[in-house]
Amino acid sequence: MTIKARLTLLFTLLVASILLLFCFSVYYFYDQYREQQFTSYLQERVVTVIQLLEDVDGITTAEIKRIEEANNTILFKEEITVYDEQDSVIYDSGKIKFPVSANELAEVRAGKAVQERRGERQLLMIRHFHESGHWVVVADAVDSIGLSKLNRLRDILVMGWLLSLVLVAVAGWIFARDAIKPVAEINYQVNNISAGNLHDRLSVGREKDELAQLAQTFNLMLDRLELAFKAQKSFVSHASHELRTPLSVMMADVEVTLMKERTPEEYKAGLRSALEEVRNMNQMVNQLLELARTEEGVLHKSYQKVRLDEVLWQAQEFVMQKNTAYAVTVKYDKVPERENEIAVMGDETLLRTALANFMENGCKYSENHKMTVHLNSDAHSVILHFRDEGVGIAAADIPFLFDTFYRSDNTKNRQGYGIGLALTKRIVDIHKGSIRVESELGVGSDFMVQFPQAGVLEI
Ligand code: ADP
Repeated sequence: MTIKARLTLLFTLLVASILLLFCFSVYYFYDQYREQQFTSYLQERVVTVIQLLEDVDGITTAEIKRIEEANNTILFKEEITVYDEQDSVIYDSGKIKFPVSANELAEVRAGKAVQERRGERQLLMIRHFHESGHWVVVADAVDSIGLSKLNRLRDILVMGWLLSLVLVAVAGWIFARDAIKPVAEINYQVNNISAGNLHDRLSVGREKDELAQLAQTFNLMLDRLELAFKAQKSFVSHASHELRTPLSVMMADVEVTLMKERTPEEYKAGLRSALEEVRNMNQMVNQLLELARTEEGVLHKSYQKVRLDEVLWQAQEFVMQKNTAYAVTVKYDKVPERENEIAVMGDETLLRTALANFMENGCKYSENHKMTVHLNSDAHSVILHFRDEGVGIAAADIPFLFDTFYRSDNTKNRQGYGIGLALTKRIVDIHKGSIRVESELGVGSDFMVQFPQAGVLEI
């Protein structure tokens, strides 16, 4: 069932029930009022008959009837019977006597007043104190006018209820259609958004209702998706571009080598240059793979307590072995009292890759190829400073350093792809760490990295 149909049904049921309750109350209270009024007429009639019986000595039933008929005060199908102490009839209006048992008469004589509806007749039984004993007056009549008014009212209420049911159903349908309209519009617009028109947005409308909020949330999601989609696209084009350059160099080298007959030495030189390019490509592909691995976000399983000083030593060894011209010094700013002060929860291999990258950059972008790492800690975190006295970074470049394939203009003459820092940032992020860069052109750089201590971060 559609929401529109469900809303209509619910709305109709609700209003119909309220109306039904209202109609019943009107009918019931009107009936009560009619009964009360008619009983009071009956009472008046009883009083008149009793007065005639008491006040006019020796008056006969026929005379009473004549007086009453002359006054025209008799109710419709009225029947009044008066019983004396011995249950014998003193007065009877003469038509069909209302059947009452001796038991009922005794009960009324004992004090019980009967005032009820039996069939179409309204019955009243009361006792009357007379010097000869307790009389019982049984009076009944048909409230024909009252009942016909009641029936008319019932018909009007039923008709009114049925008619309002139809109106309410129609109104409910219109109301539900109106309420659902923005959803249908959102549905239509969302259906029309695909990879080809990711820049399209849902129209939010002027009202600030929940559906407008939903459309806004959806638009925000589209913003993020579009950004990710663009990043993905530019990543792929950058990656292919970066791979194409060494491939072209290699192809040119090989073609030049093969142009004419060469000495074994010349062939060796050609192969060595090709090998160099293949190594570079391999390094780049490896970095890309690692970046993809960090994006998968399933690394938490391999998290364990890692001492950062040990990782620093390993990274230092790795960097200095790879490039013997590089010199990395690791210093404790404060000797840790407890192992936990310098331990973090994380993936050791990834952390080593990240720290080694800071070290490599520090050496690569310094004339002296030297850099120093300072290890420190405070109450909750482990703090590392990677300092060099190298070329430095322009303030305008700092915000983009961690973008994939970004390279500063002043370092383009050195080998690199601009993937290292993007990968490093990602690794620091997934370890809930942070990076701050301070640098001055021609003076040097300081990359400050902060990780939460193992005891602080429960992953
Ligand atoms: P790559 O070093 O391969 O170019 P990275 O992602 O590691 O890639 O670094 C991105 C850019 O950041 C570098 O090209 C360089 O311009 C700049 N950079 C990083 N570290 C330093 C540093 N210590 N000193 C100066 N520039 C740096």
